[in-house]
Amino acid sequence: MSIRTYLQDHPAPLVWAWQLAEKILPRMRPLFERLGMERSSAIVKLPEEIFKGSIFNCQDCAQCILHYNGMTCPMNCPKQLRNGPCGGVRLNGKCEVKPEMDCVWVKGYERSRKTRYAHEFYRLNPPVDWRLDGLASWVTFAMGRDQITTGAENGIRYATEAVRTGRKPAPAAPKEEK
Ligand code: SF4
Repeated sequence: MSIRTYLQDHPAPLVWAWQLAEKILPRMRPLFERLGMERSSAIVKLPEEIFKGSIFNCQDCAQCILHYNGMTCPMNCPKQLRNGPCGGVRLNGKCEVKPEMDCVWVKGYERSRKTRYAHEFYRLNPPVDWRLDGLASWVTFAMGRDQITTGAENGIRYATEAVRTGRKPAPAAPKEEK
């Protein structure tokens, strides 16, 4: 087992690191705003890549939902799905496209049970805003730019809620320009 897999299978320290980041990053917002998103990203990108690239194989989507998915990066899914596995996931939990690979959503579910964010696994995640691709997620998070308007606007934030109430998410509002 690789160190990366071991760490992700025992996510407690990673969750702790996320909680720390959740506290610290918003304090950086004034600085990031002064520098601008692009310039701030250029500065922050290297440490972010070293940390998140080596542990999570981060793909730089800049809208991080690691902590909703058992500290497992969903962008490693060959189909880059953001809301659970596709219908092709194999009975042994392997990927339909890459049979040698564990489905990131199966792993995410298992690992999420070991975190305090287990309920967040059922969140309805918005589609990726590709205009942010390649920016630093630490910056987009601090600036609140990782949250785009979604169908969750009418109050439905979790798939479980949509199933329970039968309400459908409202259509997405037009996105703001970058
Ligand atoms: S920023 Fe995107 S690609 Fe990187 S770890 Fe988070 S979800 Fe994965």
